[in-house]
Amino acid sequence: MTSRRNFLEKMGLTAMGLPLMTHSTDYLTSYHVLDGPTLKVAIMGLGSYGTRVAEAMKSCKRAKLTGVISGTPSKITDWQSKYGIPEKNCYNYENFDAVKDNPDIDAIYVITPNALHKDQVIRTAKAGKHAICEKPMGISSSECVEMIKACRDADVRLLVGYRMHFEPNTVEVIRMRMEGELGTIKFFQGQSGFRIGNPNQWRLNKELAGGGAMMDIGIYAVNGSRYMVGEEPIWVTAQETKTDPVKFPEGVDETIQFQFGFPSGAVASCLSTYSMNGLDRFFLNGTEGFAEMQPSTGYGPIKGRTHKGPLTEPIVTHQTLQMDEMAAMIFDGKEPIVSVNGEEGLKDLVIMEGIYEAAKTGKRVNLI
Ligand code: NDP
Repeated sequence: MTSRRNFLEKMGLTAMGLPLMTHSTDYLTSYHVLDGPTLKVAIMGLGSYGTRVAEAMKSCKRAKLTGVISGTPSKITDWQSKYGIPEKNCYNYENFDAVKDNPDIDAIYVITPNALHKDQVIRTAKAGKHAICEKPMGISSSECVEMIKACRDADVRLLVGYRMHFEPNTVEVIRMRMEGELGTIKFFQGQSGFRIGNPNQWRLNKELAGGGAMMDIGIYAVNGSRYMVGEEPIWVTAQETKTDPVKFPEGVDETIQFQFGFPSGAVASCLSTYSMNGLDRFFLNGTEGFAEMQPSTGYGPIKGRTHKGPLTEPIVTHQTLQMDEMAAMIFDGKEPIVSVNGEEGLKDLVIMEGIYEAAKTGKRVNLI
C-alpha cells in the first residue's frame, strides 16, 4: 500500500495544516450578502464557460465584468461591445501582467484549459490581483501547492470555481447532514459523466487537460463525496475501463469507477465517465435518512429529495450567486459552508492522483 504522507510533507502541506472542510454555521443564516463594494473582475479565456459566467454576472449585485484577457482579438471586440468593456481593460496572454497598474480590475477569473491554470494564476498573483480559478485548479497537486504559495506570498485570495458550494439545495443537504438529520453517514454514491463529442478538443488532449473525464467531470463526484459525507477519504481503490483507445489515448481516461473509505467507516462508490449521457446523480445514506440529488451538479435546476420530502430551496443561477458570494468573501471575510479556497482545490488533486495510481496499480492507495 502506498502512503501519501511523505509526499505531503515534502510539499509542505502538513505545515499548511490541510484542515478538514471549513464549516461555518454562520453561513446557514444567510445565503447572500448583497450590500458592499463591487468586485471588478476580468475573465481570462472567452470560451464556452467564460461566456456562461459573463452572462450570469449581468445579474450580480456585487461583482461586475470590467475586463477581458483573450488570445482571440475578434472575441475581445465582441465582448467589448456586448459588456461595455473599455479598450484599456483588454489584454492578451502576453501582456496581461500590466493589469498590475489597472485599478479597474480587482480579480482575474481564469477559465482556460486546465494545464494553463497554474502559470496564469501565478501571474495573476504577481500582478497583485485576486485569482479565481476554474476546476480542476491545476493538473497536479504540486502545481496547486505552487499556486497557493504564490497567492499567499502576494497576499491575494485564491478561490476555485466550486459553484455547488453555494447552491441552495446542496447547502440544505449539507446542513441536514451537519445537524444530524441523516444520522451517522454510512454511504455515498456519486455518478458524474457525459458523452464527449469532438475528438479534437483540448479536453481529450492530455497536455492541456491533464487527464480525461476524471479531471473534467469526475472531479464533481470526488469533491461531492467530501462535502456530502463531511470527511476526507483515507483510502481509494479504482478500476479503469476504455472502450475507445483512439478517442481516449494513453493518459486520457474514459471511464473510472472508484471507491473511498472515510475515517468514520463510511464508504463511497463513484463513477467518472466521458461515455455515458446525463450521468449526474448523488445519493447519501445515513442511519436516520437519505438524500438523493439528480441532477446533482449540472447547471440546474438541481433537484432532489430526502427522507423528509422534496428539496425546495430557491432555484438560482449558480454563477451569479457564486460571484456575489466570492465578492463577499474577498471584501467582508464571509466564508461558504464548504471552503472554495486553493487548499480545497489541492485536496481534490491529491485524491485524483490517488485514484489514477489505484487504477494503474490495481492496489488500494492510502491518502494519509
Ligand atoms: P473552452 O474550450 O470553451 O474555452 C477555453 C478558452 O480558453 C478558449 O476559448 C480560449 O479563449 C482560451 N484558451 C487559451 N489557450 C487555449 C488553448 N491552448 N486551447 C484552447 N483554448 C485556449 O473551454 P471551457 O470554457 O468549457 O472550459 C474552460 C475551463 O473551465 C476548464 O478548466 C473547465 O474545466 C472549466 N469549466 C468549469 C465548469 C464549471 O461548471 N465550473 C463548466 C465548464 C468548464 P480565448 O480565445 O479567449 O483565448
